[in-house]
Amino acid sequence: MTKARRILLASRPLGEPSAANFSMDEIDLPEAAEGEVTVRVRYLSLDPYMRGRMSDAKSYAAPVPVGGIMEGETVCEVMKSRHNDFSPGDIVKGRTGWVSHAVIKGDLLRLVDTHGAPVSTALGVLGMPGFTAWSGLKFIGHPKSGETVAVAAASGPVGSMVGQLARLQGARAVGIAGGPDKCAFVKDELGFDAVIDHRSKELAHDLQNACLDGIDVYFENVGGHVWDAVLPLLNQFGRVPVCGLVAHYNGGGLGETDRLPATMSAILRRSLTVRGFIQTEFAQHFDEFLQDVGPLVADGKIKYKEDIVDGLEQAPEALIGMLAGKNFGKLVVKVS
Ligand code: NAP
Repeated sequence: MTKARRILLASRPLGEPSAANFSMDEIDLPEAAEGEVTVRVRYLSLDPYMRGRMSDAKSYAAPVPVGGIMEGETVCEVMKSRHNDFSPGDIVKGRTGWVSHAVIKGDLLRLVDTHGAPVSTALGVLGMPGFTAWSGLKFIGHPKSGETVAVAAASGPVGSMVGQLARLQGARAVGIAGGPDKCAFVKDELGFDAVIDHRSKELAHDLQNACLDGIDVYFENVGGHVWDAVLPLLNQFGRVPVCGLVAHYNGGGLGETDRLPATMSAILRRSLTVRGFIQTEFAQHFDEFLQDVGPLVADGKIKYKEDIVDGLEQAPEALIGMLAGKNFGKLVVKVS
């Protein structure tokens, strides 16, 4: 009998989550029924949206119930298959959640195609975060040659892809990141044209100096004080794909109204397009994304960084750290 370790939501956090909001158990895995596949999880993706699933506030997706398995996407190895499309040893991607093993419907799995990159990249640069950046730019941001594209959380999987794609399209990429190490990586390794540390007391001034022609596309990943610095710099007909607001996920600043008049006034006077999106809206373009970006990753024209944490039991602490900016690159848990 295969045992499966699982991490459950023990209670809903108020503000910053803590280890007490999670619990771990172990169960005997049932046998796979017809159409199902038994998998061993190799890598679990940790993503900022998981903080939202821990809350029962109204959102675009249902919350994880208290006592339920924490949600998440994983790369797995097939152990046993009762589905025609999969055989033992296949590497697949699915939403098993925070578990070591699972029995899952084969129709919900996808074979991993990484163009020769490590399989963990199916959760990052060649997975949901990379696709988020690609689709937000392609369908909303529309960067043009010579324009300035700014993005925060620039060393992470979404932000790093945004800046690199923008540059490949002839735009100027300005990254915003937390701390000297992340800033050096964004400028020196990823090749952004400029980078600003959002922890600097001179953030607004530094950003203005880095964007002397203003900002044409601001790919919004964080909100908060970064948005305050970006807003005055947005150009006429600027585009703002609103992808995430990680600065507010632990509750800080939501419900705040003092930013609203300045934001609405800028949208009106500068004819801005501010468009929120969830990447699933563009899911039918995922194969196009892989065809487009896979070769760029294989050729080293798009670079990426992974932050790999060892052991399923480390997942809660790693997620808590990510919400405080402690991850450096795409956060992935190596489960087995
Ligand atoms: P990530 O960059 O790996 O991790 C989050 C980063 O946010 C942290 O490392 C930190 O980087 C930054 N951050 C946290 N608190 C901040 C604050 N108060 N002010 C400024 N920066 C802060 O995350 P990711 O996976 O690439 O995701 C980036 C954003 O995209 C998130 O908002 C996420 O929710 C969103 N997203 C949206 C979709 C969608 O479908 N709409 C899909 C995927 C991701 P620094 O230390 O550099 O500040």
